[in-house]
Amino acid sequence: MFDKILIANRGEIACRVIMTARKMGVRTVAVYSDADAQSQHVSLADEAVHIGPSPVAESYLQADRIIQAALDTGAQAIHPGYGFLSENPDFVRKVGAAGLTFIGPPASAIDAMGLKDAAKSLMVEAGVPVVPGYQGSNQDPVFLAAEADKIGYPILIKARAGGGGKGMRLVEKPADFETEFEAAQREGQSSFGDPICLIEKYIAQPRHVEIQVFGDQHGNVVHLFERDCSLQRRYQKVIEEAPAPDMPPAVRAAMGQAAVEAAKAIGYVGAGTVEFIADGSDGLKEGGFWFMEMNTRLQVEHPVTEAITGLDLVALQLRVAAGDALPFCQDDLSIDGWAFEARIYAEDVPKGFLPAIGTLNHLAFPAGTTFETGSVRIDSGIRSGDDISPFYDPMIAKVIVHGPDRRTALKMLTAALAQCHVGGATTNIAFLSALSKHAGFQAGNVDTNLIARDLDGLIDTTAPADHIIAAASVLSLGLVPTETGDPWQSLANWRHWSNATYTSRTVHDAEVISRKIEPLSEGRFVVCNGDTSRTIGIIHKAGTQYTLDLDGVQSTLDLVVQGRSIFAFQDGRSFSFEIPDPLAGHSEGADGGDNVFAPMPGMVTIVSAKPGQSVTEGDSLFVLEAMKMEHALRAPRDGIVAEVLVQPGMQVVDGDLLLQMEPEDE
Ligand code: ADP
Ligand code: ADP
Ligand code: MG
Repeated sequence: MFDKILIANRGEIACRVIMTARKMGVRTVAVYSDADAQSQHVSLADEAVHIGPSPVAESYLQADRIIQAALDTGAQAIHPGYGFLSENPDFVRKVGAAGLTFIGPPASAIDAMGLKDAAKSLMVEAGVPVVPGYQGSNQDPVFLAAEADKIGYPILIKARAGGGGKGMRLVEKPADFETEFEAAQREGQSSFGDPICLIEKYIAQPRHVEIQVFGDQHGNVVHLFERDCSLQRRYQKVIEEAPAPDMPPAVRAAMGQAAVEAAKAIGYVGAGTVEFIADGSDGLKEGGFWFMEMNTRLQVEHPVTEAITGLDLVALQLRVAAGDALPFCQDDLSIDGWAFEARIYAEDVPKGFLPAIGTLNHLAFPAGTTFETGSVRIDSGIRSGDDISPFYDPMIAKVIVHGPDRRTALKMLTAALAQCHVGGATTNIAFLSALSKHAGFQAGNVDTNLIARDLDGLIDTTAPADHIIAAASVLSLGLVPTETGDPWQSLANWRHWSNATYTSRTVHDAEVISRKIEPLSEGRFVVCNGDTSRTIGIIHKAGTQYTLDLDGVQSTLDLVVQGRSIFAFQDGRSFSFEIPDPLAGHSEGADGGDNVFAPMPGMVTIVSAKPGQSVTEGDSLFVLEAMKMEHALRAPRDGIVAEVLVQPGMQVVDGDLLLQMEPEDE
């Protein structure tokens, strides 16, 4: 086994690898960018090396600098995590040339699976079923349209170099073929530097079922069963589970066998995933699944497989990379219970899943394990007070639950999500929570269109209920007795409060909420909103928990006051209220009002603003893209656009001026 390894990644996956290495007595070296100097992966590692500025191209993608860091610190091997350099065969070759071990497959295996067209052709040779389609080199649109006719619509056009759901176009009818083909080519070229596309049949009621495989350097390859990742949004995974609902044992065996064949065909070593698309219109069937692509790395959703197999996949990766044989064979493996994973992101779901940024002033998760299997497991690389910066993927945490059966595990997921409290950035927790209660999902009727089909029912934009507003209003005045409150003190307060009426002012969703509050006795208040008045009792239970009584209706609520912010959490939903700063002026328009600056480095992908255009506050002016994120930049106020300083395709940095508005008439 290695004495020391370097982890060429950040965030939760870097932390997760470090924790397993530590358990195995392997020392760890972290690498970090400017933005990550204070981050959790740096503090968990035994050593850390700074590798550059915040943008990934200048830090986490700097192969040579990372390899030098490994050499300088005496690390013998490099774990790439996922993303970044994990599927870059040139990096793997460089690591080897430097005399270091890459913890992952050989470069040749990554090469073989790197492009979707070549991978499919290879799988056809290996006897693995692939989605019917055309994956040859002819890119003539007329020829391809004829191929599409042969396959039969609907069809999917995929950029062969694509990933993360990018460069894919669904085409419903022949008339749309050419436009969509051009769009897919453009996306392939701009995102992956390769315009070549393949076309394939769009499988009806698609289910994404993937097989975890593992190979060693002695020619052994096994599979660790399947994961169902059908809950997707725009071809990206949202909730994953293992095993797959209603998986007949014969189909599991056939799919497992096909995945093992695929891995063997390319001499695979280490952890990998073979992704299949299955026709779910009539249950999973033998002959009803097809190879889509292979991911030659550890996957984000690997913890669900760890839960049902009892294995530590990172420990296995290290052992296999060090030359050990797999410590088991296929027949030793079995499935224990059911597991789900939900990915918590900083994103604004009602606004079209727009990535969000912010400082996570409050972060609380349910009790459980971290980075190892447990009934509730939270894997996160973020701590309270950390920033979600615009430089990286805005994932906050993965919530993994493991129960004896699907129904129990799904209930555990709902419960765990309700205890994930994040204040300081908008998150998708309420959406995940609604999804975990979706009737079709509960019944195991999953397909990749479920989220899009039922999106409206999964998004709750209703305003906070009266009891939540009442509680926040009372709290904003500092009137709630504290847990450790000295009874004399509260008595003093009570006397002091008794004949006073206070006005509370908070801001929720840019709306000012004003309430008159009249204390009745300790923890009891009359809350008036115009002519309506209601009586609220509020008792601090423990930690962030309060018991509320609004006109006799009781409930439990979590409340947190952080500086001028109040966060309320209930049943998976969260609400934030700001207490306006009386000292702050309203000079908003002074500068920020006339100019739009880039809030982060990135590429301008869409420019909808035109000089002379009259805009309303909040109108979308630009879309800026960085990593997997798209940010809409909006008009700061009503007015007329004076000048647009960027074009689509331009790379901008933090603070660059993008647009100027005409000065406002006095
Ligand atoms: P999968 O679930 O198949 O592992 P994802 O949809 O999560 O893939 O991710 C798509 C791509 O983005 C993958 O290449 C993955 O490695 C990368 N990725 C996802 N999250 C992160 C992250 N936090 N940091 C770096 N890369 C990431
Ligand atoms: P990526 O590299 O972006 O992960 P994939 O080829 O794995 O690309 O496809 C991503 C997603 O697109 C799949 O998980 C699935 O939901 C959908 N998809 C891909 N191919 C098909 C197909 N032939 N029919 C229906 N859906 C598909
Ligand atoms: Mg995929």
